[in-house]
Amino acid sequence: MEDRFVYADNAATTKTSPEVLQAMLPYFGEGYGNPSSLHQKGREAKKAITEAREKIAMLLGDKPNEIYFTSCGSESDNWAIKGAAHAWSGRGKHIVSTKIEHHAVLHSLEALEKEGFEVTYLDVDGDGRVTPEQVAAAVRDDTILVECMFANNEVGTIEPIKELTAAVKAKNPKTLVFTDAVQAVGNIPVNVADLGVDMLALSGHKIHTPKGIGVLYIKTGVRILNLVDGGGQERGKRGGTENVAYIVGLAKALETAVGGLDENRRVAAMRDRLIDGILEKIPYARLNGPREGRLPGNVNISFEFIEGESLLLLLDMAGICASTGSACSSTSLEPSHVLVSIGVPVELAHGSLRLSISRDTTDEDVDYILEKLPPIVQRLRDMSPLYEEVKKNQK
Ligand code: PLP
Repeated sequence: MEDRFVYADNAATTKTSPEVLQAMLPYFGEGYGNPSSLHQKGREAKKAITEAREKIAMLLGDKPNEIYFTSCGSESDNWAIKGAAHAWSGRGKHIVSTKIEHHAVLHSLEALEKEGFEVTYLDVDGDGRVTPEQVAAAVRDDTILVECMFANNEVGTIEPIKELTAAVKAKNPKTLVFTDAVQAVGNIPVNVADLGVDMLALSGHKIHTPKGIGVLYIKTGVRILNLVDGGGQERGKRGGTENVAYIVGLAKALETAVGGLDENRRVAAMRDRLIDGILEKIPYARLNGPREGRLPGNVNISFEFIEGESLLLLLDMAGICASTGSACSSTSLEPSHVLVSIGVPVELAHGSLRLSISRDTTDEDVDYILEKLPPIVQRLRDMSPLYEEVKKNQK
């Protein structure tokens, strides 16, 4: 097969789609008005964000005045967690979350712990899942917030958010439920009314907008404190002149993603072909995360006797962009907290590869990965003294 370029790191970020760029372009040009200005340029910009808000609300199953635009998923996570904690600290200081959250969540929680909040970090099972019963059991009278991600960015596990929310509310109706749905939105159906959550975070660049736009959904009647104070933007809850072009782009991206959810069946079929092909062709490999209830684009496999970084380098030289662990931890030598939490031994966690595909991926891309990966793994193993031992013992 001819050499080609394959981007398989869509959980880190996606390529901006041409239709999103097209929708955004007018607001880099003549549509430069400030939505707060009363003149025609301002009104034009305001109309654009009003329409985008209405479209996003319709696609997520909420009301337009429950959508708040932010700069990214991390800001939405910080705002939901710190804003809820600070608003409700008079009622209690206990928060429940899990051990496999994104660092935007974990580090927000750690910041609150330094202020005197108490956080229970729930264990997950070998597939990376928490159960609604387990979450409800951790909820107390003084629990003000439960946070659980909708889908894991490293191993693709989808959590039972609807059931979990119902269980939490049954135990303590006053406890707020927030879900980080950054990896879920656009990849699986997400409807906030159906889920019953109080808050939900999403990020544009995971669904084919440029980096720099996010949303926090806050259910009507849920009070949280501001994170960014400023002018009266976002109904006085999030200061900062609105990022009009990106807001318009996000509405377009969400429309395409939700309209194309059927595409995800094709993506899931390619994911399964990758998982099966890799496990069949490469010995001493294990799938991380579940077979069922997994994000359609996520493949995460650990290889024994391999360093993930060397694997990435050789894949990169073959034109394949992938990741080891999460994007955030790929620059650190610590094993991924997610892999450790699901019981992957530390040595094996170091040899993990995440391939995250998207609707841009083709069957030929999958063939290419399946052709290039096995000899690269073999080449690295041939340099490993540990693998040498294993081969000797087999003789
Ligand atoms: N939450 C999850 C689950 C993520 O995967 C990410 C990004 O990798 C974020 C939050 C942060 O989003 P952003 O990059 O928009 O800040």
